[in-house]
Amino acid sequence: MSYPYDDQNIFAKILRGEIPSTPLMETEHTLAFSDIAPQAPHHVLVIPKGSYATYDHFALEASEAEIVDFTRVVGRIAAELGVQPGQGGTGFRLISNAGPDAIQEVPHMHVHLIAGRPLGRILPE
Ligand code: 5GP
Repeated sequence: MSYPYDDQNIFAKILRGEIPSTPLMETEHTLAFSDIAPQAPHHVLVIPKGSYATYDHFALEASEAEIVDFTRVVGRIAAELGVQPGQGGTGFRLISNAGPDAIQEVPHMHVHLIAGRPLGRILPE
C-alpha cells in the first residue's frame, strides 16, 4: 500500500524549523507542541517526525520504535499536564482526525491531547 504525503504541509514545515512552534517535548521520533488555536486550557498536538499522513498510515507503516516512542510521549504529556485520571487529574481526550469526513486540516498524522475543562460528549448529539 502506498500512502501519499505532501511535504509542504504546516507540520512538516514545523519539523524542518521553517515555521515556529511552542515545543513541549521532543524525542528521537516524536514532537509535541501547543496548538495555535487551543480549544481548551490544554491543547497539545503530538506528531511523529516521520512522513505519515494519517493515523492509519502511521499505525500500519511506522516502525515499532516510532510507535512506542509516540505513545510514550502522549503518556508523558498527560503526566506533565497533571491530567491523568486516577493520579489526581480530571482526564483528557485524544482525537486524531483522518481524511475529509473527519475534516483533517493538516495532512501530517497528529493526535490532539485536549484537557483542562469538561469536554462534553465525543460528538455533537
Ligand atoms: P486537524 O483538523 O488537522 O486535526 O487539526 C489541525 C490543527 O492544527 C488545528 O487544531 C490547528 O489549530 C492547528 N494548527 C494549524 N496551523 C498551525 C500552526 O501553524 N501551528 C500550530 N501550533 N498549530 C497549527
